[in-house]
Formats: sequence, C-alpha cells, structure tokens
Amino acid sequence: HSKKIGGNTYSFFTPSMNAFAQQRLKMENGLRRALVNGELELHYQPKVDITTGRISSTEALIRWRHPERGLVPPGDFIPLAEETGLILQIGEWVLREACRQARQWQVNNVAPVRVAINMSAQQFRQKNLVSVVQSALEDANLEPTYLEIELTESAVMHNAATSTAILEQLSRLGVHISIDDFGTGYSSLNYLRRFPLDKLKIDRSFIKDVVANPEDAAIVHAIISLAHSLRLKVIAEGVETEQQLQFLRGLGCDQYQGFFCSPAMTADRFAEMMQDQNVGKFDPLATMSRLY
Ligand code: C2E
Ligand code: MG
Ligand code: MG
Ligand code: MG
Repeated sequence: HSKKIGGNTYSFFTPSMNAFAQQRLKMENGLRRALVNGELELHYQPKVDITTGRISSTEALIRWRHPERGLVPPGDFIPLAEETGLILQIGEWVLREACRQARQWQVNNVAPVRVAINMSAQQFRQKNLVSVVQSALEDANLEPTYLEIELTESAVMHNAATSTAILEQLSRLGVHISIDDFGTGYSSLNYLRRFPLDKLKIDRSFIKDVVANPEDAAIVHAIISLAHSLRLKVIAEGVETEQQLQFLRGLGCDQYQGFFCSPAMTADRFAEMMQDQNVGKFDPLATMSRLY
C-alpha cells in the first residue's frame, strides 16, 4: 500500500487508516479535482451604502459545487485547504476570478462595482503576493481601485512589521484593504493607525443583538468611532432586520451587508440586481424610508 500526495495524485486507503483520515484524504483529493475541473464558484453579496441605499461593491464568497454533495459552503473546505496548503492555489483562483468578473460587469455595462475577496493569512504571507495581485489585475485589465482585499486581524497583526510593508505595496498598487471580522481578534491600535487601511468590517457577532444588548451596542459604537477617527470607512456584517439597520444608521455606520438586503448569490443574479438598481427597480432602503 502506498499513499502519495502531490503532482500526480493517487491514494490507497489502508485498513490501518481510521475513518477520519480516510474521509480527510478523500476530501483533499476532491478539492484538488475541484480546482482542475472548475467546480469552485464565487457567489456575490451586496455591500450597501447606508445613507444612499445603493450597492456600490460586493463581497465574493467561495462555494464548491460538488458533484454529489451539492453546493458546499467555505466553512466545510477552507480549513482543510489551509492545512494542506491548497489555499494558495484556491486563493489565486479566487483573486483571478473576482478580477475577471469585476471587469466583465464593466464591459457588459452592468456597473463599475468594486469586488472584495477574502484572503487567508497564508496567502497574505506568500513571498510574491504583490506580483500575484498585480498580474491578476493586469491579466483581467481591471483598475486596482475595483479590487478590495479582506484580511483578518490575526493575518495582519501576526508579524505586524512585515505586514506593514506588504500592505503599503498593495495600497500603492491602488487596491483597497479592509479588516474582516473586526473585534473578534486582537488588534494593536498602534498598527491599526499605521497600516494603510480603507475599512473596518464589524463582525456579525456584535450586530446580532445590537438593538437589544447595550454591551454590544457600546462595542459597535466604539468601533464606528474608532474607524472614523482613523479616517476609515466602517461596514456592519450580518444585518438581518430593519431595526438593526436603523440602529446602525443612527450610529453613523457607512455600509452594511446582510440578509436584510440579500445573501450571496450567483454572478448572474447579482448582475440582475445591479440592473434593477440602475433602472430604479431596486432600493434596499425603500422599505426603511417609511420610518423617517
Ligand atoms: P466572512 O468573510 O466574514 O463572510 C461573511 C459570512 O457571513 C458569509 O458566509 C456570508 O454568507 C455570511 N452572511 C452574510 N450576511 C449574513 C447574515 O445576514 N446572516 C448570517 N447569519 N450570515 C450572513 P460564508 O459565505 O459561508 O463564508 C464564511 C467564511 O468563509 C467567510 O467569512 C470567510 O472567512 C471564508 N471565505 C469565504 N470565501 C472565501 C475565499 O474565497 N477565500 C478564503 N480564504 N476564505 C473565504
Ligand atoms: Mg469577508
Ligand atoms: Mg467577515
Ligand atoms: Mg464574520
């Protein structure tokens, strides 16, 4: 019996391997196949400007269209991709696909929409990251301002000095940078001030009970104040109700994402939504305006 993982992937399940290891190996091989066979997809969730109600950007969220299991969410395969190092290939595919799609929407006159991608810590630390990003933009013929990179606090705070240099190079290219899930990790305020950031994304866990829970409200208020005093934009994740949206609007939050507007959807469906917005058929704040 032998097991080889790498360029030419094949594997035998030995009787000594436990069910968990077998399952893992099967999944890993499946994920390699997914990359080759084009089973990965990006779905797009709108980011809405709270004051205007307009969608001006979108977050690309990966899904795996598995031949047997159907649409698999990232939580079910990104951790394995990170453990096996496959995340570098997947991450580059995401980057290239998001740039291609953003350009396609411009060419098709859908809208000049900024597309945000999620970048894992490993990908952020990869040696040639800046040239990988630059060549993806060039190959897609996309202006850098239409690409946004979302990074977690742990990705950028780990070795903050090195991060500063990479972030500065990315920023000089013209791409936007935001901190994802803000408030769940730890951030050095000193570095937050020094990093060339554009936006903080308030984690969904603080938004969930923001209307009823004074502690959550205090944290959200503090993050918004912090962001604005550092001249950063701030966006709330996971907004599901009109009450949450109204509350965030009162606190001066700039943008929101969440099921109240829409979950992530296919590229085609997102394009339809943008077309509806273009002709005035879609306004996520229309239902809200009654309240003011
Ligand atoms: P994230 O970047 O914080 O993305 C937000 C997650 O919250 C998404 O889950 C989104 O579908 C979900 N969400 C959005 N609005 C709401 C809402 O109103 N209520 C609730 N309950 N959930 C909402 P998803 O798509 O399953 O992604 C989960 C995580 O997987 C992402 O968290 C991100 O960390 C990671 N991920 C997604 N795509 C990629 C990718 O291309 N590369 C990498 N490295 N990670 C990715
Ligand atoms: Mg994100
Ligand atoms: Mg997030
Ligand atoms: Mg989150």
